[in-house]
Amino acid sequence: MKRIAVFPGSFDPITRGHENIVRRSAMLFDEIIVAIGNNTSKQAMFSIDRRKEWVDKTFADISNVRTEIYEGLTVEFCQKNKATFLLRGLRNGGDFEYERTIAHMNKALWNELETVLVFTDPEFASVHSTVIREIIKNKGDVSQFVPSNVSIHV
Ligand code: ADP
Repeated sequence: MKRIAVFPGSFDPITRGHENIVRRSAMLFDEIIVAIGNNTSKQAMFSIDRRKEWVDKTFADISNVRTEIYEGLTVEFCQKNKATFLLRGLRNGGDFEYERTIAHMNKALWNELETVLVFTDPEFASVHSTVIREIIKNKGDVSQFVPSNVSIHV
């Protein structure tokens, strides 16, 4: 059976932290699907198409990583794609508590789903999409926080 992992998030925008997790995990799985949640009740800063374009560009050089857009429950998206692994990144203790709760809830929804947590490399531990969006709103330069081939012009 193919080992397929889903790496879900809003990627608004993708950061070097997200990139770090996916690149380092690519050898653990046959395939990683970076799943961009199109959450209609949450207003994103960037359109779903732009977010997808940046994610595609970031992983264009890795053959077993692809990007998908999804709506609804992450567990259902995993089931549809026969993905039995949910990949998540860990920055700090706060992330840990949150991820544990989500992992237990997801496991309750689908028992075959295993959450795999990967620690970020320390230089990315403070990189948060939320903070990046604040910098963008205030016209600051975020190039050091986003993948090198992603250029964000607002
Ligand atoms: P987004 O930041 O795209 O809105 P999340 O915050 O839910 O979405 O992130 C998606 C996944 O990426 C989560 O597992 C999260 O822990 C992980 N992640 C986010 N930022 C980093 C980072 N700097 N280093 C490692 N993992 C990260």
